[in-house]
Amino acid sequence: MERIFYPIGQGAFYAERFTEEEDGINFNMVYDCGAGIHLNGTTTGHNVVRNAFSSKDEIDILFVSHLDTDHVNEIPTLLTSCKVKKVILPLVSRSKYILNILNIINTNGQYDIIIKILDDKESFFNQGNFNQGNNKPEIIEVKPSEENEERETKEIDSLKGVISSNSIIKNSKINWIYVPINYNQNNLEAKFKDELKKHSDPFWHTVDLSDDKQVCDIMKDPMKDPKKNRRAQLKKIYKKVCDINLCSLVVYSGPLDKRLWQIKSLVYGGVKTVTFPNKDVKDKPACIFTGDSDLKNMKIKNEFASYYSHVGTIQVPHHGSEDNHDISQYDKKTICPISVGENKYGHPSPYVIGDLTHNKCQVFCVTSDSNHRLTEKIKKIKLTKLRNLIRRRGNMGGVSRRING
Ligand SMILES: [Zn+2]
Repeated sequence: MERIFYPIGQGAFYAERFTEEEDGINFNMVYDCGAGIHLNGTTTGHNVVRNAFSSKDEIDILFVSHLDTDHVNEIPTLLTSCKVKKVILPLVSRSKYILNILNIINTNGQYDIIIKILDDKESFFNQGNFNQGNNKPEIIEVKPSEENEERETKEIDSLKGVISSNSIIKNSKINWIYVPINYNQNNLEAKFKDELKKHSDPFWHTVDLSDDKQVCDIMKDPMKDPKKNRRAQLKKIYKKVCDINLCSLVVYSGPLDKRLWQIKSLVYGGVKTVTFPNKDVKDKPACIFTGDSDLKNMKIKNEFASYYSHVGTIQVPHHGSEDNHDISQYDKKTICPISVGENKYGHPSPYVIGDLTHNKCQVFCVTSDSNHRLTEKIKKIKLTKLRNLIRRRGNMGGVSRRING
């Protein structure tokens, strides 16, 4: 299997590609598909996305972390390159929906894409020659996490509709799992209502945001009455409650039994530049894709406690922003790719890089320079090697049973 962090600059486009020859099955997973925007309106990753998959490829799962343009603006390119079987998105609450719109209106970007996704997901993902009619992708939404949630295990082929956060999505043919978490920011809706009630302008006390007409009127507001910019006020109220970037679908990807897989090599800095993973992470083939989430808030070590010891790779969230950083969530020597490009926010933060390096993590900046593509080659351990390992380490119960049977 190859895990690829594509060089798209300030965005995110990652894939895991299992192949028939290497792994006995063709299987592709993509996490996010967006990039920074050039002055001429094209994105810094357009050609990278266009060339990543051929018309013969199929993407079995496309995870979308959240609807910021740098994570979704190249999805149409992907949909015109090949067939996408399933799309997994976070289920967006009413508040987040409005927040998305607010965010979009005040940014100059390709926001038509986001509005299309919010408005009508079905037809958005039903574009490109490969994804129409009977071939249209199945859309699955992940509910915000709840306390004491029951974990469901679902085979990939049977996935449909709305699933709970922390569901185990399993591919039995390779014994590989994906676990998406739509981290619930403690009662966003309730906090939002509270802020409205506390506002000094009584106008807000009676606003009901589940009323579409009221919301639309507020959105159109600056044109009506520039002195009282209700839209800007609403955005301010929002900022007190939630930062849009905090809300990303975080995905764990890893084998059911980590002992069967190993990271063999890392390719970064040009095709011929091969390095080898540190022995501490070699046997940790799993990865956590974090999108733009906030590790200060969402403690991935707890959330993925049952698998954390399998994790050798963590995508550093939010393009290396200091605001989303918490070093305690990384084990020493973790492989840490950071997607980053030209930006006005100072990403990646030198403090984050310093902190990770100090923790002996291996940091890779994945920019839009084609030499900055990071590829992890992850392979199944050969059976003979595994048998020797078992002999040396003694009883490894499950593993020996599985390989003998
Ligand atoms: Zn981003």
